[in-house]
Amino acid sequence: MLLLLLILTLVTMTTSTTTAETRKFVLAPLPYAYDALEPEISEETLRFHHGKHHAAYVAKLNALIAGTPYETMSLEEIVAKSDGAIFNNAAQVWNHNFYFATLSPNPKTKPERALLDAIVREFGSVENLKKAMNEAAVNLFGSGWVWLVENQDGRLSIMSGKNADTPLRYDMSPLLTIDVWEHAYYIDYRNARADAVKAIWNKIDWQKVEDNYSKGKK
Ligand code: MN
Repeated sequence: MLLLLLILTLVTMTTSTTTAETRKFVLAPLPYAYDALEPEISEETLRFHHGKHHAAYVAKLNALIAGTPYETMSLEEIVAKSDGAIFNNAAQVWNHNFYFATLSPNPKTKPERALLDAIVREFGSVENLKKAMNEAAVNLFGSGWVWLVENQDGRLSIMSGKNADTPLRYDMSPLLTIDVWEHAYYIDYRNARADAVKAIWNKIDWQKVEDNYSKGKK
């Protein structure tokens, strides 16, 4: 009887541990090596940005949602439904996943086809779009993100978001983003945010941006 009780207890313990683990978010691995985006982004910056800051958002999110209804939701659902600290950490996890995924050591250097047409229609040229996004990044007071988004009407626009703000909250499809939190550039560029945002374009993979654009079309 005692043995049966012991076995039952062990089984219960194992089950609950497994269930708790499956509900936890994990840090998405970088799709390239930490030194792969040099010289624009140093290995040290990426190790802090991904390994410390991004990892901390994931850990805090897991701690905050434990035992709440958010525990069973997808990351996108949490971003859509939460506010306060849970929103801040969930949105930062989502934003960073998106940001790191659109960078590449071997990026496609120019947009083509439908995305190029849409950019030319809205901004006149790719150079103009870059200039407008760089200006938005420099003028964003404090921490945040600058996004190229596709709106519900199919038109492109630039969104400046403070702190963890994200286009997901506004029914916009994000196409690409620049992280303008100081942690994204301060090790490499110190206070020169303008230089940091100018450099990031060398590592933005327009193939990923085109893929994001097609996704919004479906
Ligand atoms: Mn960041």
